[in-house]
Amino acid sequence: MITDLDLKYLQRCVDLAQVALENGDEPFGSLLVAPNGDILAEDYNHVSGGDHTQHPEFALARWAANHMLPEERIKATVYTSGEHCPMCAAAHGWVGLGRIVYASFSAQLVQWFNEMDVAPTRVRNLPIEEAIRDVVVDGPVPELAEQVRVLHRKMHGRL
Ligand code: ZN
Repeated sequence: MITDLDLKYLQRCVDLAQVALENGDEPFGSLLVAPNGDILAEDYNHVSGGDHTQHPEFALARWAANHMLPEERIKATVYTSGEHCPMCAAAHGWVGLGRIVYASFSAQLVQWFNEMDVAPTRVRNLPIEEAIRDVVVDGPVPELAEQVRVLHRKMHGRL
């Protein structure tokens, strides 16, 4: 279930995705939120330098590993503009983070790429639950997913 507070955090993720796009990166943004609602860390995509592992969800998983105890990580929530790729889902699982909430999901991204005649990425777009076990996942949120779709269309010169 998605709450009003979840929507606020997801909107921040979409705003971060916009910042990424403005910086020449891919439009993805994410937050790591403590059980009390504090935003512990946030990041956006940084692949324009040529390292295509520079995804925000991966960065947040490593931040959590370096700054949080395991019992804190499992209670933390990761919000993200687009569902984790398998690399980031695995990092989330290995680090032992908790709930994931996304604005748009991977199958939507595949559909948007198809609509724009953009080739699929080499890494498959799998649901998070196919990469890791025992994870609570909520999303998508249609109105925010539409904002994310617009960012991807801009990235590919379709708007
Ligand atoms: Zn990723």
